[in-house]
Amino acid sequence: MQTRLLPDTPHGREEAAAILRAGGLVAFGTETVYGLGADARNDHAVAAIYAAKGRPGINPLISHFTTADAAFAQVTPTPLARGLASRFWPGPLTLVLPRAPGCAISPIATAGLSTAAVRVPAGGNTRALLAACGFPVVAPSANPSGRVSPSDALHVLAGLDGRIDAVLDCGPCHVGVESTIVDLSGPAPVLLRPGGVTLEALEAACGMPVAMPRASSNDSRPLAPGQLSSHYAPGLAVRLDADTVGADEALLAFGPPLPGSPLVWNLSARGDLREAAARLFAGLRFLDMEGHRRGLVRIAVQPVPAHGLGRAIRDRLVRAASPRP
Ligand code: AMP
Ligand code: MG
Repeated sequence: MQTRLLPDTPHGREEAAAILRAGGLVAFGTETVYGLGADARNDHAVAAIYAAKGRPGINPLISHFTTADAAFAQVTPTPLARGLASRFWPGPLTLVLPRAPGCAISPIATAGLSTAAVRVPAGGNTRALLAACGFPVVAPSANPSGRVSPSDALHVLAGLDGRIDAVLDCGPCHVGVESTIVDLSGPAPVLLRPGGVTLEALEAACGMPVAMPRASSNDSRPLAPGQLSSHYAPGLAVRLDADTVGADEALLAFGPPLPGSPLVWNLSARGDLREAAARLFAGLRFLDMEGHRRGLVRIAVQPVPAHGLGRAIRDRLVRAASPRP
């Protein structure tokens, strides 16, 4: 299959929507990362996403909508869900809620669960694309499963060229890490994945603490579906919280860079977590490719603080450093 690169224009979005309507796969930019889109109602299209990504079938997908009303037609919102939607949508927050009676989302997309994950994204023209579709679109990150997420169109082609119908070139993603996922299907909200909405902002909006699930010790039965420990993995090994760096290591710096590495990508020289999140996946990709070319043995990572967006950044780095299956 030839993968087309479409411009993010009204005509390009119409073409992308036509491919999706016909059951094809189109990657597109959102404010978080590039998603690989398919019609959420179409079992074949949804199954094709799992095949193109090599994604395990136990890992459910997020459905994307133009408005909260459209999302809440497919799931049963609680008052807290409505409050969070009006505070954070459009934006990088995903809500897990019970599937509504008559929910049109393919059971393949929700991995057979009685709940579904929904979001209204904020990226520049993402909602214009969704509006041109007129149906919910599932869109996991547009990369082979387990590898580094894409934050621009060329990253998508690097991993999926020839395996999907098209990429809508929406430019670089400005948030740069995936959405925060909060499970609202139980008695109290649970944070399933830290992401572009900080835990601090989420707890303030909830007016209560948001618990995190215990880390899973068993990847064959993860506590939160899809939260496998190895993910976002570059080819080179990753060493976290480095306070020195060797001449055989690439350096992912944060703040003033450690001396001694021949290859440095600074997430943010001024120690800004927003800038660091937006530069994270591009940096991992750059250090991996260029480090490999130069014969370096691993990527050393300087400490990133564990508050605000730093939680999401650290979560991705811990998984990138985790032993590979
Ligand atoms: P992504 O890979 O960015 O599309 O994110 C999808 C993630 O959302 C999955 O890996 C799950 O962790 C989470 N998720 C999606 N649907 C559900 C659900 N029904 N229940 C719990 N988590 C979900
Ligand atoms: Mg992903």
